[in-house]
Amino acid sequence: MTVSPCQSCGACCDTSAEWPRFSLESDEVLALIPERYVDDANGRMRCEGNRCTALSGKVGEATACVVYAVRPEVCRTCEPGDPECDIARRQHGLAVIREVLTL
Ligand code: SF4
Ligand code: SF4
Repeated sequence: MTVSPCQSCGACCDTSAEWPRFSLESDEVLALIPERYVDDANGRMRCEGNRCTALSGKVGEATACVVYAVRPEVCRTCEPGDPECDIARRQHGLAVIREVLTL
């Protein structure tokens, strides 16, 4: 089984409070996210600083999304190695994925 690089990263979930913003989700879908992780007033996940409150663990070591099954669209579309991923990893001083894969 292939292990996703995201499990030892989490950088994109700790990059900007503006990032985990709701977009195409229906009210029914958003209602599945536990309230304590939602910032209704700003239409996004609740963040502390740049970090989404649904992120557990230590960025760059071991992380997980505690609402993974019901996470917002933006979180589903971010893929390891895409431009947003590169920006997030660099912000945390981590090598971008293509460099990691060629080490
Ligand atoms: S920054 Fe990239 S590798 Fe890290 S968790 Fe996000 S998508 Fe995965
Ligand atoms: S909801 Fe999950 S995947 Fe999305 S930013 Fe928060 S911790 Fe990351």
